[in-house]
Parts: sequence; structure tokens; C-alpha cells
Amino acid sequence: MANFALQLKNITKAYGETPVLKGINVDAEEGEFVVLLGPSGCGKSTLLHAIAGLHPIDSGDIIIEGKSVAGMPTRDRDVAMVFQSYALYPNMTVAQNIGFPLRMRKMPASEIAIRVAEVAKLLQIEPLLQRRPRELSGGQRQRVAIGRALVRDPKVFLFDEPLSNLDATLRVETRSEIKRLHAQLGKTMIYVTHDQIEAMTLATKIVVMNKGDIQQIGTPHEVYHRPANLFVARFVGSPTMQMFAGTLASNASGVVFDDGKGWSVPVPNADNTAVGKSVFLGLRPEHIALAPAGSGEMATVDAVEPTGPEDNVVLTIRGQKAIARFPTGSVEANTSVAVMLDLAKASLFAADSGLRLN
Ligand code: ADP
Repeated sequence: MANFALQLKNITKAYGETPVLKGINVDAEEGEFVVLLGPSGCGKSTLLHAIAGLHPIDSGDIIIEGKSVAGMPTRDRDVAMVFQSYALYPNMTVAQNIGFPLRMRKMPASEIAIRVAEVAKLLQIEPLLQRRPRELSGGQRQRVAIGRALVRDPKVFLFDEPLSNLDATLRVETRSEIKRLHAQLGKTMIYVTHDQIEAMTLATKIVVMNKGDIQQIGTPHEVYHRPANLFVARFVGSPTMQMFAGTLASNASGVVFDDGKGWSVPVPNADNTAVGKSVFLGLRPEHIALAPAGSGEMATVDAVEPTGPEDNVVLTIRGQKAIARFPTGSVEANTSVAVMLDLAKASLFAADSGLRLN
């Protein structure tokens, strides 16, 4: 049987009349890196704070290593949280800030000194130990905040958008640092973000949330390549997956996507059960390639957005919008190009329910 570090069982919470968590079920195995991903306001911070015991829940249970903690105060839950705002004590040195949770637990000073030194080494902040927070950069402050969580060696680490106050370069550096720490320590981590790249790069398991509900739980690979519904398909991936509206039909070659205007193409990975349904056929940018003139589909180039190595290219194909990613400078706006669509990789969603069909 799997060894669960954390189990969330049917958690609900409302603020007044407004439900914010609508029955959340998540299991985190020992050592997993679970990312709660969703747009602003979807309830992910509320959920993280509920795990930490900072906010009560209305119903459901929170189980850490087999024991219900739902009624317990934060200090008894054996979790440590890293916040977006580093929340360091300005008058304490880095060493004192890191050692603070241990002093609160009345650990002997000699032992605290050893633990602080270990954590400082792990985070490579030994030269900073005697500084005050104001003498640190934002990235260094966030390392100290992470150190303060690490020093306690809790059962579960909770991260609440820890990178959002850092500039782009530091964000990438600190992200790698957190990933390294996870690999090195093998600790269970629960991490909240609205940034799908952060989720993709860090998670072993992504929980995609929207409006207080879970939309999908899966590995980064599953969430990206097999989104469970239209919401996940559009939320994960940049530029986002574009949808072609049509219906599914069948002919001699198997299941085909029909746009109702004379365009009918085989969809190799669809089965017969969905034939007759109104659908959205989703293609990611990498599923559209330039084709030799005279082959493939004709597309008009509506816009070209350079990103450096590649251009994001907004196309119209058969009257519907698509976005491709082509090598820099390969196409120009307001021209026509031939493109090849990799329909074997297409995602199909029911137009009515939004649910994945293939
Ligand atoms: P996220 O972290 O995904 O951005 P939150 O968990 O912070 O979302 O918030 C979820 C919803 O709950 C939002 O609609 C927010 O406005 C609402 N909310 C959060 N905190 C409170 C509060 N203290 N009182 C009332 N509504 C709140």
C-alpha cells in the first residue's frame, strides 16, 4: 500500500455564502512534490492554509502520516510553510531567523547551532549567517525563509507562491534550488502557484484547480499531453492550445473531424464512441509544422511574435484560429503558408461537457 504523507478528504470551505473549496480530495505519497495549480481566486491558497491549520475547514479531513490533524493547531501538525513574503524578523541575524522555530521549541542552543549550520550549508548561505535581512537581496531572503522551514525537518513542507516576489532571473534560479532540495531531501512538498511553467518544472504531481474544484490530477506529462478537459487544455501550455470547432463523423478511413464547411480530416487517435458529437479539436503549437508549398493546409499568417529562438505565429486555418511556433523569421505577417497538422497528437473535447474524448 502506498505510504501517504498527506491525504485531503472531501474538504469544503465557504466564505459566507460563497463556496471556495467544493469537496477536495488529494493524496500525496511520501516524497512527492505536489503542485496546486490554478488561476487567481481558485482556492489554492485557502487549501494550503487549511493544511497548515491557519484557516479552519467546514467539513472533510486532513490526514498527515495517517493521523487526522483537522482539529489541531498549526504547531502540532508538523508542517512548515514558506510564504511569498519572506516574513523574516528584521532585527534578527540570518542565523537567528533560521534557528527561531527551534528556539520556540526549546531546543538546546548547541543543537540549534548545529542544525542551523547544516541548513546554511545545504542552501549555500554560510557567508550570510551574521547579516540582517535588510542586508540581503530578495533571493537571499527567500533562501533564509526556506532555511527556516528546513531546519525543523517537518513531515510536510508547504510553499505558498514562494517565487512571486522575485525577478525573472532569480525566480528561475530559486526554482532550480527548490527542485534540487526536493531531490536531495526526498521530502513531501505541497506548492501553490498560478504559474504553469513552475508547476511543470517542479511537480511530480499537478493538481489543477478552478473555482474551488479539482479539474485534473496527474503528472506534468499527463496534464500537458492528455488534459482532462477544456479548462486544463487552455490553462496549461504557452502559447495555449487552440480549438477547432466541428463534429466527429466516420468514413472508410475511420473517425474524421468535420468542420461542417467541407473540411474533413482523419483523427487517428479517436474511437467510434464519440461519432456524431460536437467537439473541439485541440492542437498545441508544436503540432503545427511548416509544409512544402502545395502540400498540407493553407494558412494565413495573422501575426508573428518573436520570442528569441522561435516565433509564436498566429494563423487562420480553414477559418479557425491556430497558434504555431516556427523558427525565427520563417514566416511573415499577412502572407499565406502551407502547414502540416499532426492530428495523431490532437486532443478532442466534447463541446457540451468540455470533457476529453480521446
Ligand atoms: P487563490 O490562492 O487560488 O488565488 P484563494 O484561496 O486566495 O485563491 O481565494 C479563493 C476565493 O476565496 C477567492 O474568491 C477569494 O476572494 C475568497 N477569499 C479568500 N479569502 C477570503 C476571506 N478571508 N474572506 C472572504 N473571501 C475570501
